[in-house]
Amino acid sequence: LVMATLIVLGILTTMGYQLIKGIEDFELVQYMIRLGFFFLLPFMMSAVLAFFLQVLSPNKFVGMGLFVGYFLSTLVMASWGLGHSLYNFSSSPTIGFSDLNQYATSLTTHSVYMLYWGAISCVLFVLGYGLYHRGPLQSLKVRWSKLGYHLGKTGKAVIAVSALVAVGTGAFIYQQTILLNNYITTEETTDLQAEYEKEYIQYAAMPLLVTTAVQAQIDLFPSEQKVVARMQIQWKNKSQLPVEKLLVNWPENTQQMTVTIEGASLGERDAKFRTSWLAFNTPVAPGGTISGVIELTRESKGLRETGFDSTVVENGTFINNWELLPGFGYQDRYELQDRHERLKRDLEPNERANKLEDSTFYTQNFFGPDGDFIQFEATISTEADQVALTPGYLQKQWQQDGRNYFSYKMDQPMVNFYSISSGRYEVQKAEHNGVAIEVYYHKGHPWNVERMVESVKDSIDYFTAAFGPYQHKQLRIIEFPGYRSFAQSFANTVPYSEQIGFITDLRDPENIDPVYYVTAHEVAHQWWGHQVGAANVQGSAVISESLSQYSALMVMEKKYGADKIRKFLKYELDRYLQGRSTERLGEQPLLRSEGQGYIHYQKGSVVMMAIKDRLGEERLNANLKAFNERYRYRNDPFPTTLDLVSYLSQNTMAEEKAFIEDLFNNITLYDLRVKDAKVTELADGKFQLNLILHADKLVADEKGVETAQALAEPIDIGVFSVDPDQTSGESGVIYLKKHQLTTGENSIELVLDKKPLYVGVDPFVRLIDRDGADNIRKL
Ligand SMILES: [Zn+2]
Repeated sequence: LVMATLIVLGILTTMGYQLIKGIEDFELVQYMIRLGFFFLLPFMMSAVLAFFLQVLSPNKFVGMGLFVGYFLSTLVMASWGLGHSLYNFSSSPTIGFSDLNQYATSLTTHSVYMLYWGAISCVLFVLGYGLYHRGPLQSLKVRWSKLGYHLGKTGKAVIAVSALVAVGTGAFIYQQTILLNNYITTEETTDLQAEYEKEYIQYAAMPLLVTTAVQAQIDLFPSEQKVVARMQIQWKNKSQLPVEKLLVNWPENTQQMTVTIEGASLGERDAKFRTSWLAFNTPVAPGGTISGVIELTRESKGLRETGFDSTVVENGTFINNWELLPGFGYQDRYELQDRHERLKRDLEPNERANKLEDSTFYTQNFFGPDGDFIQFEATISTEADQVALTPGYLQKQWQQDGRNYFSYKMDQPMVNFYSISSGRYEVQKAEHNGVAIEVYYHKGHPWNVERMVESVKDSIDYFTAAFGPYQHKQLRIIEFPGYRSFAQSFANTVPYSEQIGFITDLRDPENIDPVYYVTAHEVAHQWWGHQVGAANVQGSAVISESLSQYSALMVMEKKYGADKIRKFLKYELDRYLQGRSTERLGEQPLLRSEGQGYIHYQKGSVVMMAIKDRLGEERLNANLKAFNERYRYRNDPFPTTLDLVSYLSQNTMAEEKAFIEDLFNNITLYDLRVKDAKVTELADGKFQLNLILHADKLVADEKGVETAQALAEPIDIGVFSVDPDQTSGESGVIYLKKHQLTTGENSIELVLDKKPLYVGVDPFVRLIDRDGADNIRKL
């Protein structure tokens, strides 16, 4: 009851707050469902359990102890292989809420589970009532003997009916989640991954076919979570060996699939690993091409304990071709990464990425073995009230049998990575220098759409001028439900989660504008990732991600100024330092980032901005433009970070080149501090500032062991009239200049016109400083 009161109070406070804020469409029903049905109801069941345990106990302390014991057991149930909600009192699997897609299947699933737990709670409650201490203290045994009398006919009937309901719903849940949808525990999943590796790694080096053209016919049935696809595909054997057979890994939620290629046949499906072999009667010769048709039906049915399909949903479908289609060849993405888990299953430590020097992977894109450039066209149909989108340009649109049809065609090569989206959308359109910008968004989510459009315009303008032309005449952003929170760039198409873009509150101007930034980053991928690929070796994500970070930061700097960038870089530096402190396998230098986000995103941002600071925007962009021109749509080979560094170093002086190479090749850290600062007012009204700075440069190895390096570099010294950590807008810079600093103590004397209040060494975060907090000193 206390809890219920608290929740009602909570609702009232929130509603009151929202009324004050002027938002009147508070959805009372939503609150009731979310708090009442998903939170309060299971909570009340736990209260019944506590009551029952109390009744069983000779005194209240034992009762409390039992409940605590129960609570502790819930924490370890999963590790005992009992993670299924059937064994965890009053629990149910939920997937969260989305404005686009509401509760998805959660509402039904939760209802069935609540019926099951409700029935069990009913039994416990009535039993508890029957066994309740009446009058003088009696032992459980005595009370048990009188149970029938206390329950009476009604009580017995309630227990009988509830037990029946519990058994019935329990059996139903078991049949749906375990038999129909093959629920397995986390431990079993891990075992299966290990067994897959042991079984198939011998085929890892087998030659594969690479997709060169796709003609898709995809029928979406969002309200049934169903897709029927017919894909006409052309493949090429890019390897030096004939292709005799291919390992086919069936996609998720797909029970039916045929692969029709002349002279080839698809074998039986292995039920355990969901694999088949595709055998060619006549092997595909090196350089040879072949075409065929993949037909499949993907469908999500019944109740699920785990593995809810968040891609094909009632409103806001977003699925990519790798999720929809079978994967060919050994899938190293199934490999366990955790060394301990590997060891437990007799697996040697594996590599996170192919070695940078391994040129056999230079003709393979970082998207994977089948990530080459393709020709693409698709016809997609969906339900009558939805719009369907995929990369390319709309050629035709029509209605047939109460469904909407959309035919798209891409007019030039694009990476074999495409999205299929469908939903009930509002559209915001804009035209900008010949590029059609469109944002497809959920009806109640108009707030940040204008900001996105603005970011797309600013980004296309900057990137076109800096790196070369935009390859498309259109850019579309499409909202998808917040069960997944990221945005992702496909050719002329950017699916964007409601969670990180459309419902973000941007009203505080002090904050970094994440929507503007993420949009710019995704637009940048049209250049870095979609025009220029990357060889599938260490450092590949630097070409796609670090360059996109840099590109987006430049668009941000133009719009919001250097202060916002400083704030952003400080944040990036912190996250990089945090990332390296939790690295378990070994840090790599930027050049060799192995899917390590804290390196190719966070360190990448700081490093690229440091190079921009050193070379200047124009020289850096000229080098990136040359890099883009050289590798645009090239796959023979794709570039590596070695190529990137060589382009970045073009037209640089020896010291600049050394600086760039150091940033990429080493894990370099600086230790910069203001040790002492003294201000003296001079007779002529000027101010003399005497500084003592400490400077060190270190190089860390994979395990974090640091070695001191000789430092002799120009580093920013800044003097401010306001706290650089607090300011936004006016930065209050009195003085900013690079001074040559060397290892150890450095004395600097400055004469300033204005009274200095703050001083800083590398105040704009141009370098990777081990501790940024001691760089600024109040005077
Ligand atoms: Zn990215």
